[in-house]
Amino acid sequence: MTIDEAQKAVDEWIKKYGVRYFSELTNMACLTEEVGELARVMARKYGDQSFKAGEKDNIGEEMADVLWVLICLANQTGVNLTDELKKSFEKKTRRDSQRHINNEKLKA
Ligand SMILES: [Mg+2]
Repeated sequence: MTIDEAQKAVDEWIKKYGVRYFSELTNMACLTEEVGELARVMARKYGDQSFKAGEKDNIGEEMADVLWVLICLANQTGVNLTDELKKSFEKKTRRDSQRHINNEKLKA
């Protein structure tokens, strides 16, 4: 599935099952909530926290939840994520093409 196909699929799902998009501010809160859920799993899996009884390592599910809400926000604000990701690659390459290669902290 391409990013463009994902944007279309989420839009079709929202129109078929979701009635309408939540407001942009509600979805911003939902995105923050999902990032927090991902952070919780990361803290337990890679950090010093441990999973509570009944909790599971669902890192992929939480990443997909983050992506879902981000796609909703892109759709309802008219953002083409394919175009923006291409621009982001260009920006990062222009800005950081030598920065990380020359970062001694990243070596060894
Ligand atoms: Mg979640």
